[in-house]
Amino acid sequence: MYKSGMSAGRTRQTTSIPIVSIFPSIDGEVNGAGQGVLATFIRLAGCNLRCWGGRCDTPQGLAVTEHTRFMQVSAVIDAVVALESRKVTVTGGEPLLYAACGLQDVLAALADRFIYLSVETNGSILPPEHLLRMVDSWVVDHKCPSTGESGKMVPFPIMRERLTNSDFIKFVIADEDDYAYAKNIVESCVFTPESPNMAFSPKTGGMNASWLADRLVADRLHTVRYNLQIHKVIWPEADREV
Ligand code: SF4
Repeated sequence: MYKSGMSAGRTRQTTSIPIVSIFPSIDGEVNGAGQGVLATFIRLAGCNLRCWGGRCDTPQGLAVTEHTRFMQVSAVIDAVVALESRKVTVTGGEPLLYAACGLQDVLAALADRFIYLSVETNGSILPPEHLLRMVDSWVVDHKCPSTGESGKMVPFPIMRERLTNSDFIKFVIADEDDYAYAKNIVESCVFTPESPNMAFSPKTGGMNASWLADRLVADRLHTVRYNLQIHKVIWPEADREV
């Protein structure tokens, strides 16, 4: 279901939110609009986790620094509109750190413009009720053991109950232990047409992409979608955000 445009009520345009960058690209990961769609990314600064001991794949989003811009909601919206965006992906860092201060206003303003919205979140915070109706697709990155942060995840059944069939729960697989962990979770689920989608993604630089695909096929994991970060295939050497 397309949820955008359902955010009745006024937004606070003067609230500010910490921004790392706003940039146009393609959405290289699973989401309800499909991999490969053009999207504008809003990357927020600050994260409550430290995956792989802080060697995370988006270090620019880890913390609020002197390079962080605190932008008013109106300026964020102007930047997105200037890029003629039809889809926005909000990512981080961890966007839900700002669920009650800034994020809500950004999402509401974009939803009012009928822009398709996906939000990427790290699985440690339950998407709050007041944001559910504004977001078209949640993409929850449930952390596997190799991150060292799997113990901080919202209990899986609770997270899954919160999501719908336009949403994704993604497991980034770095090694065999991660695969066994994710496979065990998926095999414990009962799937209905309303269930959120499951996706396994090989960790870029840490997992052979074909190994994971072969395992999914061999293990007949028909309820799992294979996710490759296609922006990293297209622009492997980029020294800018893609
Ligand atoms: S949740 Fe994302 S931004 Fe936060 S530490 Fe993990 S990989 Fe980095």
